Amino acid sequence: MEWKGYQPCCRVRALDGAARICPDCGQVLLRCRSFAGCRALLGPLEACPIHVAPRLQLQRGAVLAANLGDRITLPLVLANASGAGGELRLRRLLRMLPGQEPEELTPLWETVRPGEERSFTVETGVLEAGGTSRVSLVLVLATSLGGVDEDYAFATEILLRVRRDETKQIVQNIRVEGGSFAAGASAVVQTGPSVHESWKPADGGPGDAPAPLALERAEAFELRHGIRGYRDEGCRVPSTVELECRGFRADDAPPAGRPFAGGARFAAGRNGRKARADNPTPNDLALRIYRGTGSAVDAERTGRISGRHFELFLQNDRLVLRALGRHGTWHGDAALPAGTEVVLQPGDRIAVLEPATAVPQIAVAMHARGPTVERIVLERRG
Ligand SMILES: [Zn+2]
Ligand SMILES: [Zn+2]
Repeated sequence: MEWKGYQPCCRVRALDGAARICPDCGQVLLRCRSFAGCRALLGPLEACPIHVAPRLQLQRGAVLAANLGDRITLPLVLANASGAGGELRLRRLLRMLPGQEPEELTPLWETVRPGEERSFTVETGVLEAGGTSRVSLVLVLATSLGGVDEDYAFATEILLRVRRDETKQIVQNIRVEGGSFAAGASAVVQTGPSVHESWKPADGGPGDAPAPLALERAEAFELRHGIRGYRDEGCRVPSTVELECRGFRADDAPPAGRPFAGGARFAAGRNGRKARADNPTPNDLALRIYRGTGSAVDAERTGRISGRHFELFLQNDRLVLRALGRHGTWHGDAALPAGTEVVLQPGDRIAVLEPATAVPQIAVAMHARGPTVERIVLERRG
């Protein structure tokens, strides 16, 4: 799908809740899941900038300069600048160390309500290199959008100036008495300058005002650490992903489309696909069991499938199944009680009723181009 980007027309047309494509320019309209609160149109993998608006700053008086071998405590403040409400939850706080696994820090609180701020500190550890030293932090923040929790990682870097402490260097002063190195001359060795000047930095020292820090979305970190997307496959499912159903009767399945654009759910169950008085909440995919290869429905077995049996939706750039049916939805060999949610992996199988009867079973395939899943195929077997 060609992604052209939004034009001014799209902002206006998106206010018509039914429009999935801008009638003026043809751009697909990807609304935030909580569009009523923010009116935001998003890129396929973008976090809503209105709902997810963390602001990080160093507190007034933070010291950013030290001597070699010192430790610094960095006082930080995280604010929730969401213009549309909604809590931000600090799920994880990590300090990134070059060439090592990130170090997990434990903040003392979890929630920042909109318009509020909360403080925390980060210890630098012993500063072992002179010059400019970096403290890299990653914050994993969660927010609920349209009833679905989404996690995002944000990274920041704090620069420290570390001065070599010369009292720790051994300086050899050789004073030669007697005017020559001739036999009998003695050498006296002194160590270190006797006076250590305290260092007053011109900048980067105690500041009078809180200093805002750049907080950038860390998509690569999200994927590598399994926060969003499929880590092992190295790919993410965007809201523009195409869904194709194979092996179903023509009336039971929709044509290939993009059901998740705009945060919608894809519903499957016994109820039909057409909205009628007796079917006010039609499914996207009708699940029925037929007698043999004919068109006659096996009423007894089909009757055990719930009107709405399961739903698929996207969460954290992954495909998630939510079981709803009373008579069982199976994920591989595991029975899912109604209300259970499970992340679907490429190659997984969903079974309705029970896997022993194997009817109907649905195989889930994902086709990626590079790091992006472009198409999901649900194939009915049996
Ligand atoms: Zn447009
Ligand atoms: Zn939003």
